[in-house]
Amino acid sequence: MLGLMQDQPLLISSLIEFAERHHGDAEIVSRRVEGDLHRTTWSGIAARSRKVANALDEDKLLQSDRVATLAWNGYRHLELYYGVSGSGRVIHTINPRLHPDQIAWIANHAEDQILCFDLSFLPLVQAVHARCTTIRRWVALCDADKLPADSGVPNLVSYEAWIAPQSDEYDWPDMDENSASGMCYTSGTTGNPKAALYSHRSTVLHAYAAALPDVMCLTARDSVLPVVPMFHVNAWGIPYSAALVGCKLVFPGPGLDGKSVFELIENEKVTFAAGVPTVWQMMLGHMDANALRFSTLNRTVIGGSACPPAMINAFQQKFGVNVLHAWGMTEMSPLGTLCTLKNKHLAMPADKQTAIRMKQGRAIFGVDMKIVGEDGKDLPWDGKTYGDLLVRGPWVVKEYFKGEGGDPLVRDAQGRGWFPTGDVATIDEDGFLQITDRSKDVIKSGGEWISSIDIENIAVAHPAIAMAACIGVAHPKWDERPVVAVVKKPGAEVTRDELLAFYTGKTAKWQIPDDVIFVEAIPIGATGKILKTRLREQLHDYKLPTSAA
Ligand code: AMP
Repeated sequence: MLGLMQDQPLLISSLIEFAERHHGDAEIVSRRVEGDLHRTTWSGIAARSRKVANALDEDKLLQSDRVATLAWNGYRHLELYYGVSGSGRVIHTINPRLHPDQIAWIANHAEDQILCFDLSFLPLVQAVHARCTTIRRWVALCDADKLPADSGVPNLVSYEAWIAPQSDEYDWPDMDENSASGMCYTSGTTGNPKAALYSHRSTVLHAYAAALPDVMCLTARDSVLPVVPMFHVNAWGIPYSAALVGCKLVFPGPGLDGKSVFELIENEKVTFAAGVPTVWQMMLGHMDANALRFSTLNRTVIGGSACPPAMINAFQQKFGVNVLHAWGMTEMSPLGTLCTLKNKHLAMPADKQTAIRMKQGRAIFGVDMKIVGEDGKDLPWDGKTYGDLLVRGPWVVKEYFKGEGGDPLVRDAQGRGWFPTGDVATIDEDGFLQITDRSKDVIKSGGEWISSIDIENIAVAHPAIAMAACIGVAHPKWDERPVVAVVKKPGAEVTRDELLAFYTGKTAKWQIPDDVIFVEAIPIGATGKILKTRLREQLHDYKLPTSAA
C-alpha cells in the first residue's frame, strides 16, 4: 500500500517561491565589485531570477544546458542560481582562482553555453574565451554603461541589458526532482578535475539539513554572511537554506580582507558567518591589531580544512563567538558532519567540552559514514582507530559527470555503494568524526601514522606562528619523518629549537617534527586549502638535518 500524500517534486524553484511569498521583505545586501553596497530583498531576487529564466528561454537554452559563472558572492549571482536551475538548466559555478588553462578545460568539458562573470574577471575571460568552444554568449555582471567598449570578447552583453527587456513573470516548470540543477568541479590536485552534478532533490534535502538546529541553526531572525564563495560547492548550500528560512543575506563580493569582512559583520548586524580558516585568520589578525570586538556575531561555521584549536579558542574565549567545526566535500554538496555537543556533554568540565569541539563533529541526518581498514572491513568507533572514511546519502555523488574516473563507489555486503572520501579519520563512541589527514598526506613513520593536521595545529598554537604545513620527508630508517614549514606572524620571533621545544608534552615524542623550515608563504590552492603537492615540490632539494638520521 502506498501512502496517500501529495507527490510534489523537491524543486529549487519552490525555495525562491517560498522566500518571496513568506519573507519577501527580508534583505539581501551585497558589496559590489564597483565598491558600493547594494540592497534588495527576497522579492527583488525572485522577480529578477524570473527575468533570467526568460532571457535563457529567449537564448534558446535547452533543459539541462549549462550556464557558467565566474563570480563573487552577490545578488546577481543569487539571481542566476535560481533563474538557471529553476528553469531547468544547470548552474555551473567555476572557481576563478583556478589556472586559465583549467578554466578553459572545465568550460569545454561541461559544454557551457553561456558564461556570466564579474568584471574583476574580465582579464581571465579575455585570456580564455578563444579556447572556450561551446560558449555562445558572455554576460558581464554589470550595468549597461559599465560594459567595457573594446574588450575583444565576442557576443558580450551586460547582465542588466540582457535581462532588462524580459518579463518578471515566469511559470517555473515542473520536472523530475532528480533532474540536474548545478555542477561544481573538484579542485583535482592530480589529473583533470571531475564534476559533481547536483540534482534538485539533493539540493533541497541538503538545504533542509543545513538549516537544522544542530547544523547551522538558521532562522528568519538571522543575518547570514557566507564568506565561503558561491563558486565553490554553492557556498556550502547557504543560498538555498537561507531562502528556506527567509533570513537576511549579506554578500561580501570581492572584499575578503579582514577589515572589509569585519565592517560588514558590524554594519549589517551579522549573527552567523561561514568561511574557511584562512579567511578568519585574516579577520582575527585585523581585530587583534585594532582591539576590536563583535557586537552581533554569535556563531560561525568553519570548515574546508581543519580549524586549528587556537582559532576555535580565540573565537570562543576572546570574542564570545560559538565555533561550529564542519567537514564536507564537493562530492557531498558539501555538508557531512558538524560539531555540536550532545546533552550528556553539558555536565563536562570546559576543557573536556573544548576537546570535543575540536573534532569535525557528528554526522548530519542524511549522511551515513564509516571507517574501514585496508582490507575494506569496518573499524571500531573508539576515537583511536583510524581508517579510510566512506560516506553514503542522498546528497553524496554516485558518479562523476560524464562517468569520468569510472564507478567511484565501494560496495558493501548488501551491495550498497559507499563513496570513498580520500580522508583518513577516527570516529569516537559518540559518533564524533576526527579527520587525521587526506590519505595522501598521512606521514608514515616506522609503520605508525602521524597526523599532519595534529602537527600543524600545535605549531599555530604558538604565539609567533601564523601558518603551518607539515609534510613527510623520506628517511632511510623510518620511511618518512615529519617536518613542519611555518610562516611567522609579522614582527614575531621564534627559533627552530624554541618551536620544537613547544611540542614537548603536546604530542608523543616520536611524532615531534624532525625540523622546522621557516618560509615566507605557504602555497594555498583555489579553495583556500594548503597545497601540499606544491610545498613538496618547493622543498624538493630539502635534506633532513643529520641529527635526525
Ligand atoms: P573540497 O571538495 O575541495 O571542498 O575538499 C574536501 C576536502 O577538504 C575533504 O575531503 C577534507 O580533506 C578537507 N576538509 C574539509 N573540511 C575539513 C575539516 N573541517 N577538517 C579537515 N579537513 C577538511
